[in-house]
Amino acid sequence: AAARKVAKLHGKIRRQRADFHHKTARTLVRDYDVIAHERLGTAGMTKSPAPKPDPDRPGGFLPNGAAAKAGLNRSILDAGWAQFLGILANKAESAGRFVIPVDARNTSRTCPECGHVAKENRVTQAKFECTVCGFAANADHVGATNVLLRAGLVLCAAA
Ligand SMILES: [Zn+2]
Repeated sequence: AAARKVAKLHGKIRRQRADFHHKTARTLVRDYDVIAHERLGTAGMTKSPAPKPDPDRPGGFLPNGAAAKAGLNRSILDAGWAQFLGILANKAESAGRFVIPVDARNTSRTCPECGHVAKENRVTQAKFECTVCGFAANADHVGATNVLLRAGLVLCAAA
């Protein structure tokens, strides 16, 4: 009974999360022509090993090391990013919007003013201050600006 309760609760959380993803994606697609985001971690980190069908047990799967990777994947999958990005991509495509994944490396360490990259630019979790040109701003804002700048470069390259 306890297991069923937990399963039921998980189902509820999944539905709420999916609902939130759909709403958020709808709003973004409605309000923006271009949506840029950091590409998810390298394929090796986010992709769980493909399940191997068990020939002796139709519908069953052989162990394939998925559990060992699960801990690492959990932090990414719990946030539901992959699911959200899938939903976003679908809605954007049917609405004729662009979704641009960009290289996520150093987005929070790169100065959007002069391009200087250093972890020292990131003074605290919240504060960015370039050690070369002195540009200072909210760190999240700097990260978002860099994502947008990179998406702009992608758009230019495609034009
Ligand atoms: Zn700078």
